[in-house]
Amino acid sequence: MTEITSLVLGPLETNCYFLRDTETGDLVIFDPAWYEPALEQAVQKAGKGAVKGIVLTHCHFDHMMGAAQLKKLTGAPIWLPVQESGFPADPTLTLAYMVPGGLEPFEADGLISEGKPLSFGSLSLRPIHTPGHTIGSHCFLIDDILVAGDTLFCGSVGRTDHPTGNTAMIMQSVRRLAALPGDYRVFPGHGPETTLERERRFNPYLQ
Ligand SMILES: [Zn+2]
Repeated sequence: MTEITSLVLGPLETNCYFLRDTETGDLVIFDPAWYEPALEQAVQKAGKGAVKGIVLTHCHFDHMMGAAQLKKLTGAPIWLPVQESGFPADPTLTLAYMVPGGLEPFEADGLISEGKPLSFGSLSLRPIHTPGHTIGSHCFLIDDILVAGDTLFCGSVGRTDHPTGNTAMIMQSVRRLAALPGDYRVFPGHGPETTLERERRFNPYLQ
């Protein structure tokens, strides 16, 4: 079974998700937003060696301020969207110019692209390229779980007024998600969990 738990980290209250295979204990961490004690404690509790991968839904600072330190702690590889491979070095794209001290540099170990399933230990993820909030934003499907980053929120969609944002693209991306067969539990980058069916019915951007 795959279980997902969240930590709310950092001043922008970003959801950091722990995706775990309950049989093997293998773990993938999405969006290590901020290196706060709660994050380190959760990793120590799971066991550092259990963390098989660190996945960034997109490269805004509020989703990856903890990435460098988390990689040092666990040795796990950092994967980020292929379209955003140049983002971490550019504070105008990550928006890290807003943070005193900026983003601690890190090396990406892998680049995410749609059509290339990701395997981390016993966990496998299917990435879907959902541009609009940023050019490389991706969502991820694992069983009945959809990790949505800042593309789809409960009752809303991500903002598109930052560099590489595009309103027409995010509309296309959320419609594509809505057209997925069946239902999913949706885990957005900020705010509460929802379901794809609830968003199909009530999200004003999908009407
Ligand atoms: Zn963002």
